[in-house]
Amino acid sequence: MAEELRKNFIQEIVENDIAESDGKINIVTRFPPEPNGYLHIGHAKAICVDFGIAKKYGGKCNLRMDDTNPAKEDNFFVEAITRDVRWLGFEPDELCFAADYFEEMYAQAVVLIKKGLAFVCDMTADEIKESRGTLTEPGKESPYRNRTVEENLDLFAKMRAGEFADGAKVLRAKIDMASPNINMRDPIIYRILRMEHYRTGNDWCIYPMYDYAHPIEDMIENVTHSICTLEFEDHRPLYDWVVANVDIDAKPRQIEFARLNMTRTIMSKRYLKKLVDEQSVSGWDDPRMPTIAGLRRRGYTPEAIRDFCDRIGVAKSNSVVEAALLEHCVREDLAAKTQRKMAVMDPIKLIIDNYPEGQSELLKTENGSDEEAGSRQISFSRELYIQSEDFMIDPPKKFFRLFVGGEVRLKSAYIVKCTGYDVDEAGNVVAVHCEYDPETKSGGSGADRKVKGTLHWVDANNCVEAEFRLYDYLLDEREGEGLDFAERVNPTSLIVKKGYLEKSLEDACVGDSYQFIRVGYFRKDEDSASIPVFNRIVGLRDTWAKVNK
Ligand code: ATP
Ligand code: MG
Repeated sequence: MAEELRKNFIQEIVENDIAESDGKINIVTRFPPEPNGYLHIGHAKAICVDFGIAKKYGGKCNLRMDDTNPAKEDNFFVEAITRDVRWLGFEPDELCFAADYFEEMYAQAVVLIKKGLAFVCDMTADEIKESRGTLTEPGKESPYRNRTVEENLDLFAKMRAGEFADGAKVLRAKIDMASPNINMRDPIIYRILRMEHYRTGNDWCIYPMYDYAHPIEDMIENVTHSICTLEFEDHRPLYDWVVANVDIDAKPRQIEFARLNMTRTIMSKRYLKKLVDEQSVSGWDDPRMPTIAGLRRRGYTPEAIRDFCDRIGVAKSNSVVEAALLEHCVREDLAAKTQRKMAVMDPIKLIIDNYPEGQSELLKTENGSDEEAGSRQISFSRELYIQSEDFMIDPPKKFFRLFVGGEVRLKSAYIVKCTGYDVDEAGNVVAVHCEYDPETKSGGSGADRKVKGTLHWVDANNCVEAEFRLYDYLLDEREGEGLDFAERVNPTSLIVKKGYLEKSLEDACVGDSYQFIRVGYFRKDEDSASIPVFNRIVGLRDTWAKVNK
């Protein structure tokens, strides 16, 4: 609730604009990804801001593919992006494509030429760069700057018609080579590039530059508030210049906020793509990837991601958010939603020597911590599986699990006392022996006897074999050492374990999530075949809550 009351600076700007228009303004925002990769958790923040503002003020939000650069764009990414936005819980008012505006962008460039505000320049890209000047020195005017309107119109038409080689000419805005803002020093607004575009094919051999195209896209869609990240702050004067000088009746304004950075998380599409292309991960939706698709497959919920975006808020200065906060959010959401089940990784047999052979019984166990969650029956017999780490030959002090002579409670079952163990030829423990005390059945009259440790288990005669995938951060802990991400890939970011699930999990569907008692939250993965595969979403221990109490 407190979050609701505290307005962020974008909301304040929007509310002022609404007041100044006497409530006449119809708020329109957009989320404008370039379809050259999958969306990541940083995009989720932008999505929450863009759609959130529209929703809060009764406006609209478009999903716009910012596809003005043919080089790496693809329909495959359009589909992935659309799917991910919807999955996050947002329904775009319109799905738009910047490429659909190419004709209008061209027409507006002609308008600028006619106004004497744009010119065709024959300098090479390098020459233009060199003549731009520096932060302390003004740039040099292009020798082509004073071409006549007629000549510019003719040359620009020829650029479009394909009469010049790639890079031979560009169209530049005619602004001010002495501007203290380098972006205003006659920026390039069109370039010649023969490359097939996934949407317009070979219709065009000239493509508009971002700074020119983006405001026009916003104007065509009647966007009122064009929210973007801080690195565009210096580009705002150019944005405003385009808005002021083209002939479209709309006055969008650009607002910048800090992008999301997170510890141990790569937030660059370029690098994420490299990981995919070099097969360092299984794909864009590898559960270790910070992509929306990866988070979904890992088992993150849209609610948890939206909650995370709410909590980090929007600010005007960059900072780095702890990855543990995102984990905290999903843990909190899953704790409320998932059933508790028993699953054993790295199993070892536990044989209860005084339990009759061939006998089994059904025991009642709770589905969750509150009564509403209900209960279920689990089977128990003479041979169980427990996790091998729950038994030690030489335990340290305060080891409240199994060792010869030690006692534990088996969750929802009996107290057992360890009597011995079997080893194979190599000396590995292959089975643990114990005796149970029939008087100590959970829920029965003798259940109040207390022992320090409680172990989870599954019935070896009635269980399901499974694979468990345990994940760690893709990047190792070395930060700020000037290392390339490639040098920081964490070799133990995926650990695969075998084990067993309680029988009731036989019915689990791909996408279902559970809390596996003592081991974490897990989601059934798409790779499940004859043997189900479960991804660990997050462990049970909350490092974030502990530090941030
Ligand atoms: P990347 O740098 O990862 O390639 P991008 O900015 O090039 O990202 P776009 O597809 O252009 O990716 O981004 C679409 C929108 O998402 C933009 O408005 C951009 O500002 C926003 N965005 C991208 N990354 C983040 C982030 N880490 N935090 C918040 N917003 C982001
Ligand atoms: Mg971008």
